[in-house]
Amino acid sequence: RPRVGILALQGDVREHARMLAELGAEVVRVRRAEELAGVHALVLPGGESSVIDHLARAFGVRDPLRAAIAEGLPVYGTCAGMILLADRLEDAITGQLTLGGLDVTVRRNAFGRQNESCETDLAVPALGARPVAASFIRAPEVTDVGPSADVFARLGDGRIVAVEQGNLLATAFHPEVTGEDRFHRRLLERALSR
Ligand code: GLN
Repeated sequence: RPRVGILALQGDVREHARMLAELGAEVVRVRRAEELAGVHALVLPGGESSVIDHLARAFGVRDPLRAAIAEGLPVYGTCAGMILLADRLEDAITGQLTLGGLDVTVRRNAFGRQNESCETDLAVPALGARPVAASFIRAPEVTDVGPSADVFARLGDGRIVAVEQGNLLATAFHPEVTGEDRFHRRLLERALSR
């Protein structure tokens, strides 16, 4: 039974916990380095990336997280979690850091005020023919993908909203709020093959 951590400093931890428990994982809320040791995979939830960054440093868990990512821990980031995984941020709040790992550039709040939140059916070929019900909430977009990362999904207008690189997966949207479980399943497969 895979043990999956959720970084539980701020954000939609509960929705991810429910999804992972439904898929049979043992869920561990991670706030400190001790809680990170021993997980087979990790979720970085949605929320506010600058707040999560601030708290991760305050809790002394930023460097352990970076080390775990560098060691190949399977990680899935949604929305703010995608921002945290990006190597480059176009519009960081002053002093805001990411954890990094994904060779991409991300722009925060990319979908504009008038469209703070929306839900759309998204084609994600790697997950099969059935489209993904994708919920965007003040979502980021990936504005550049470096040679190490792969585009995993695009909106109809071409904007990149999901990326994958080795054991790292990130989506600008929140499948955990629409009951879409294929991203979490993919994470669990990675966890089990470690
Ligand atoms: N706009 C948020 C940020 O910059 C992300 C929003 C979300 O996670 N739903 O971190």
